[in-house]
Amino acid sequence: FSQQSVAKFSKDNVNRFIKFIKEMLTQNLGYPRIGGQRQLKKACEQYWAGKIDLSELNKVARKIKEENWQTQLDAGIDLIPCNDFSFYDQVLDMSLLLGVIPQRYAPVLSEVKANKEIDLYFAMARGYQKDGLDITAMEMTKWLDTNYHYIVPEFTANQEFRLFYENVFGEHHAAKQLLSEKAKPVLLGPVSYLLLGKEKETGFERIDLIKKLVPIYVEIINRLKQQGAVWIQLDEPCLALDLSKKEKEAFDFAYRSIANRVSGVNLLIATYFDALLDNTQLAVNLPVTALHVDLVRAPEQLDEVLALIPQHLQLSLGVVDGRNVWKNDYENSLNILNKAVTALGADRVIIAPSCSLLHSPIDLDQETALDPEIKNWMAFAKQKLQEIAELKQLAEGDNHLLEANKQAIESRRASSKVHQHAVKDRIAAITDADATRKNPFPVRQQVQHERFQLPVFPTTTIGSFPQTDDIRQLRAKFKKGELNVEQYEKAIEQATIDAIRWQEEIDIDVLVHGEFERNDMVEYFGEQLDGFLFTKNGWVQSYGSRCVKPPVIYGDVSRPNDMTVRWSRFAAAQTDRPMKGMLTGPVTILQWSFVRDDQSREITTNQIALAIRDEVVALEQAGIGVVQIDEPAIREGLPLRKAKRPHYLDWAVKAFRISASGVQDQTQIHTHMCYSEFNDIIEHIAAMDADVITIETSRSQMELLQAFSHFEYPNEIGPGVYDIHSPRVPSTEEMVALLAKAAELLPARNLWVNPDCGLKTRKWPETKAALENMVAAAKQARQQI
Ligand code: GLN
Ligand code: ZN
Repeated sequence: FSQQSVAKFSKDNVNRFIKFIKEMLTQNLGYPRIGGQRQLKKACEQYWAGKIDLSELNKVARKIKEENWQTQLDAGIDLIPCNDFSFYDQVLDMSLLLGVIPQRYAPVLSEVKANKEIDLYFAMARGYQKDGLDITAMEMTKWLDTNYHYIVPEFTANQEFRLFYENVFGEHHAAKQLLSEKAKPVLLGPVSYLLLGKEKETGFERIDLIKKLVPIYVEIINRLKQQGAVWIQLDEPCLALDLSKKEKEAFDFAYRSIANRVSGVNLLIATYFDALLDNTQLAVNLPVTALHVDLVRAPEQLDEVLALIPQHLQLSLGVVDGRNVWKNDYENSLNILNKAVTALGADRVIIAPSCSLLHSPIDLDQETALDPEIKNWMAFAKQKLQEIAELKQLAEGDNHLLEANKQAIESRRASSKVHQHAVKDRIAAITDADATRKNPFPVRQQVQHERFQLPVFPTTTIGSFPQTDDIRQLRAKFKKGELNVEQYEKAIEQATIDAIRWQEEIDIDVLVHGEFERNDMVEYFGEQLDGFLFTKNGWVQSYGSRCVKPPVIYGDVSRPNDMTVRWSRFAAAQTDRPMKGMLTGPVTILQWSFVRDDQSREITTNQIALAIRDEVVALEQAGIGVVQIDEPAIREGLPLRKAKRPHYLDWAVKAFRISASGVQDQTQIHTHMCYSEFNDIIEHIAAMDADVITIETSRSQMELLQAFSHFEYPNEIGPGVYDIHSPRVPSTEEMVALLAKAAELLPARNLWVNPDCGLKTRKWPETKAALENMVAAAKQARQQI
């Protein structure tokens, strides 16, 4: 270098630096990685099937990453995430990076010849049945309160950590080529990494592993810094959870240790999905450059954060909703930004989405079939980037973007597509009586007993029967117009008749119609309710290569027509036995949709509840004596913070009761729940006051029934006697044993006999064999009491 060029170089740098510190920054926390056409899903599935090799898979991944980076660069984002990409799950990525590999996978490493690291990675995610090995997958669970599922890290007492799968450095290196110092590596922070995992042995607490874990984080951070990283994002969502004293100390310890051994790189701690609340003091005093807070979920936390924030800390304001599909209200966001700028100065403010955009669909521009008026109210991940950039311009005084946004927000606020007076009036008029059956359970039980004359241990199933290729093709052909309504309905009718005949033959007591006409338990209802819309391509990753396309609730919900009566009436007419009507409950419909952000979840749920209530009443009028309202998602709606749970449970239970209470005593209301722990919510389950609840219990060997027993659960209950998640056919004896166990815990007269869940993912042969054994088990159990 010549003298001059060196002088010029450093002058540019200084200028850039001055600009850097004076200006407000924008950032993103993470971008969807499935690709706009779900390329990653397809590539992974092909790789697993041996149809493409690793280099093909990597090519697809590289392309997605580069497109994502370019999109964010084009949008004008200052700090762009890298290492947010993952082939399966970002928490699993951390486990590989940190060398947290459960012992059972050792043979994959020693014996598998091919692509060791990636095959180990997928083995941990999906299990490994090849090369004479049979190793189970790691457990998967929900990522906080989202519908994304992560792979749960497994820790042992002598857990060691070491840099193992050093992917992050390559990711950052590649991102830097395109983004230079804007490339911001993302890691799950050390404390949340431990807390979100689980102990696989007794005798230790995983949080105590923090001392061993921190040095590896120091090493990673220092190497990223040496590679030229200017910012590093450490996600610590657990800072927004209830923390014990020890856990708080772990945060303090971890970040102080890191700060002592790392310098010259900006660390950003990202929190999201709730307020910091009692962790605010702790969070703002962690020795890092910046803290991110979620101001969509918890706008109220801003004041306290601003009051406590120390001089040195920069604040990232999560103002653009990363979890929903609505256009940002700029005026509202500007108020927040201005407040922060006034308190901190522009150079200490960063504009951001509330959380990673992983939870948003990718690109609204692809939705060419949406009603343009409604589309103008929406924003997907790509559009949200634009919003972040525009908010910066607005905060800097460039007002020309405000008007169009105001108009869109105003058009939604006033639109007759959103607001139905009749619905609002009905919501306002709901009374406690609407949420209460005519008589208490003992009275109803008597009436129903006389009506149905069921044996003890009555048998039933949860609703769906195998969705065979034939059935799926029927629906697909009908959708494409290759079958007309008559042809389609005839075929569905035949499948229904066959299922009913067969249930009679094996002597099931309360029958179902099989749900052959349904694609999905929420979509089926959303398609028939007003206030819902469906996107063509609004996919969001659920786990691994699995994506979901949730419906969007945009307006007041109402039910223009009967939804299930036609099929239930048809089914009931085929048999003399009781036929269960089959509905999805209001909380589950809410929970598995994108919801309105212009009214509370409670109100939206009550609107759905009224629609379901009308359907229940219509079924009753059509002569259907038993109606099941599925609520598998009640528990997953639980707020992260304990203090908020009672309120949620109150309104969620009430919504169910509203949907169930329009009928006479003699109509038997069932509900069904799976994937649930009931211990901490049993009183609320009881408050739902369903005449019969069926639950998933077989995998826990009736363990989950303990809660009902301790509580002396008063109503009838069907603890699942066999696991429907595998094709394995349970023996009669083992189901008899489970029933005996159940009868020790609860009065036999209240017990039903049924599988854990619906059978739609199963094949017919195993379904038939299993249900025949189940009926035999019920009959044996009847002899034994
Ligand atoms: N009735 C539904 C079915 O049988 C219930 C599904 C569920 O609980 N997830 O498929
Ligand atoms: Zn279920």
